[in-house]
Amino acid sequence: MFPRKPTRQIRVGNEKTGVVLIGGGLAGTEPAPVSVQTMTAGYTYEIDRCVAEINRLAAAGADIVRVAVPERKDTAALREILDQTSVPIVADVHFHFKRALEAVEAGVHKIRLNPGNIQDRDQVNAVIDACKDAQIPIRVGVNEGSIIERKDKEKRKQELGAYFEKNLIGGRHAHLLGLIIAKLEEYMDIFRERDFADVSISCKSMDAAFTIAAYQEVSKRFDEPLHLGVTHAGPRETGAIRSIAALSGLLTQGIGDTVRISYASDPVYEVEDGLELMYSLGLRERTGIDLIACPTCGRIQVDLFTLVQNVRTKLASDITIPMKVAVMGCVVNGPGEAEGADVAVFAGDKKGIIYVQGERVANVPEAEILDRLLAECTEFQRRVLAGEATLGEKVVEIVPPDPIGELGSGFEKIAKGDVEKSTSLTINKS
Ligand code: SF4
Repeated sequence: MFPRKPTRQIRVGNEKTGVVLIGGGLAGTEPAPVSVQTMTAGYTYEIDRCVAEINRLAAAGADIVRVAVPERKDTAALREILDQTSVPIVADVHFHFKRALEAVEAGVHKIRLNPGNIQDRDQVNAVIDACKDAQIPIRVGVNEGSIIERKDKEKRKQELGAYFEKNLIGGRHAHLLGLIIAKLEEYMDIFRERDFADVSISCKSMDAAFTIAAYQEVSKRFDEPLHLGVTHAGPRETGAIRSIAALSGLLTQGIGDTVRISYASDPVYEVEDGLELMYSLGLRERTGIDLIACPTCGRIQVDLFTLVQNVRTKLASDITIPMKVAVMGCVVNGPGEAEGADVAVFAGDKKGIIYVQGERVANVPEAEILDRLLAECTEFQRRVLAGEATLGEKVVEIVPPDPIGELGSGFEKIAKGDVEKSTSLTINKS
């Protein structure tokens, strides 16, 4: 577990939605698990579609869902949307402070303000007062695209960039980081003067390295919980690398209290990947399957990629306990790599051999692997829930079969002694 930087804790949600705590460690609070957020991709004023999207994202595991409210018709839809959903909702206000006031009035659970777009002190004060009365927090969300004030850009670059450049902070973007920090400090002063501490902060960029530098600097200067993200990260294929690079770098330094991965794609992927990141870093306890799968190689004799995708999709909805499932292409390296799996299949020679906690339970043709594996996982889950079995507990010796056969490509390796013919599969060695 990576030690977390202590922050002030904020609360999002209510009795109906459940309260999501963000941050903690200061003022007698315990750090809350890092939460995973996302944002709807559709129009908020299309109430039925918006509700369906929010509920789909909540079912995928989103702790908090944000909706855009650019127009009056969007905030007018909020009350009905809130009635039909049960996850905390954040209203993202970009250009007009009145949208924030309307969203608070409708009962939204948090407001996001962009200091680059709503700057008038009286307007910000009006939003702060409304949120204070409603006891809901505000995220101050700076992002690179909206922070630069065009009219005095050059002058500010010189003044504010000097410190960061001299101290080698922010790399090639020292000027931009200077602008962001100055804007945040200026904006946060408004909240402090109003005695409003129910605030989280984000400072997103589309550059992963700059995102790390910016949040490191913000984390040093502010006690507010931090909402991490890389903005405009692109489609999932490339956006995942960009987002995970930045977020992992920060989370392993203890920086970050809530995350949103953003893709130009279905936001369900943002939730799935955000949760997987938390599980992979040990920042959240896994709630569903932990799938191990081999990358395949020249030894493969079944369509493993399709099998893995099908196993993942089916088990994601059916398995609710953190069961480790291994789908391996052969027995050459499979048993060692699947060590610790509760349920494992070793494929080969158009067949699959299935183990449950080390015990061989089936040897089925390729066409039957998926159904049998799912049935074994479901039955194992039933036994665990009934107290008849324990996850990751048994220590079992497995003598793997050789489905490839002595003429198969793995045999030479075994024959040379590079791989033991009898491989011990140890479930939860420790
Ligand atoms: S488990 Fe077998 S098929 Fe899969 S990568 Fe390892 S050696 Fe190759």
